Amino acid sequence: MRAQPKASHYIGGRYVESPEGHPFPSIYPATGEAIASLNSADEKTVEAAVAAAVEGQKIWAATPPAERGRVLRKAADILRERNRALSELETLDTGKPLQETLVADAASGADCLEYYGGLAATLTGEHIDLGGSFAFTKREPLGVCVGIGAWNYPIQIACWKAAPALVCGNAMVFKPSEVTPLSALQFAEILTEAGLPDGVFNVVQGFGEVGAQLIAHPQVAKVSLTGSVPTGAKVASLAGEHLKKATLELGGKSPLIVFDDADVDNAVSAAINANFYSTGQICSNGTRVFVHTAIKERFLDRLAERSANAVLGDPMDETTSIGPLVSKPQLDKVLGYMEIGKQEGARLVCGGGSADVAALPDGFFVQPTVFADVKDGMRIACEEIFGPVMCVLDFDDEDDVVARANDTVFGLAAGVFTKDIQRAHRVIDQLEAGTCWINTYNLTPIEMPFGGYKKSGIGRENGHAAIEYYSQIKSVYVEMGDVEAAF
Ligand code: NAD
Repeated sequence: MRAQPKASHYIGGRYVESPEGHPFPSIYPATGEAIASLNSADEKTVEAAVAAAVEGQKIWAATPPAERGRVLRKAADILRERNRALSELETLDTGKPLQETLVADAASGADCLEYYGGLAATLTGEHIDLGGSFAFTKREPLGVCVGIGAWNYPIQIACWKAAPALVCGNAMVFKPSEVTPLSALQFAEILTEAGLPDGVFNVVQGFGEVGAQLIAHPQVAKVSLTGSVPTGAKVASLAGEHLKKATLELGGKSPLIVFDDADVDNAVSAAINANFYSTGQICSNGTRVFVHTAIKERFLDRLAERSANAVLGDPMDETTSIGPLVSKPQLDKVLGYMEIGKQEGARLVCGGGSADVAALPDGFFVQPTVFADVKDGMRIACEEIFGPVMCVLDFDDEDDVVARANDTVFGLAAGVFTKDIQRAHRVIDQLEAGTCWINTYNLTPIEMPFGGYKKSGIGRENGHAAIEYYSQIKSVYVEMGDVEAAF
């Protein structure tokens, strides 16, 4: 098989197999071919991973922060040197076009490692003057953190969780999605090569129950999940039962609001990026595009014209701009929503079904799809589809569109297009979303905290904010005088 790893898991600085674990394949979504076969972790393997992390964490927490930072920055350099090979692996595992994986996956992971590597030596506590006596605070690691990944950005998610966890002196056991198990193993090898002590970053494979075993493990302090809202609810409830800290990066149905003074071509570009990049499989996608009625038909014409330029095809060909969906179940789900949209009476502007790519007849391809005249209550406007299906809704009034944009259980992201700077800020201030854009969409630089309001999540990744979620503050009161007592 063309992407078979040396073994399924990476524990204590080396590859480990669990022959008794449940076998599962990794499928190349462009052909349906199995590219690797792995075994999910059995109980012994989960135990070994946590035990290795406990030992590794002791050594790592005692390592000077500046040295920790050097290891992360070295790993960033290696990721960049191997970007092409890592991108090809990510394309095989996810089906995302190489055109994207070359710039958005390992590259974003490298940015993240470099950013936190740079922060390492700056993480300090504070001095609190109590008038003679004083207190100080220290920022301490949590211990062993569990990372659980989704399948859309496998190596990026592994890096976004590992880098802030490790810089704070924690160890991590990472469980990739069972759909895309491969690149996290390469990342673990790279960390070892960069000088990370054995056991500080471990990878175990498996389905939800392996994730649950890790969360419930008594020696695990925290879980950070990227996944869907239903999985987030299960993880939060398990973490609550065991009083574990939890960061949840979940799904969305985010609004992108285009006012009548917007630059239409830029707004169309943003709507394309917000719906069709990674074949629509992005949590922060702006899938409810509210367009002012004065420019709606012009917007739709340009959108249909430009959507016709999408190049569907072999993801390994760098001219391909849209690859297949990640799996057959995801294909069936997205095709199902396209049918629902038609039945609900939305106007199909383009796409609307599976796509034939002659050279790849078994690939999970769908057409980039735009529905117009979508109404707020339609299922396609309320439920996360996680495929290239854009819903365009009309509006005339600012207050009305803000209320409609907020009328959802989700709150991951939002965008506004207008040339009126006051309106842009006024609208953004009212939107219930954790990550917002003005006159662009879906840019997520590492420096900017990322995360959701409402059911889209708890906590933040990236930026200085993530440090809060991977460390705890110890306060120390220092008495400089005598101790008084009642008797
Ligand atoms: P999913 O919820 O099916 O699975 C996510 C991960 O959770 C997988 O590794 C899975 O094995 C694990 N899991 C499942 N049940 C579990 C349980 N009971 N306990 C512990 N772990 C369990 O999500 P997916 O289909 O892989 O990814 C798509 C979803 O992820 C979408 O909803 C998308 O919006 C969301 N997502 C969010 C972000 C973000 O940062 N907010 C980023 C990417 C994807």
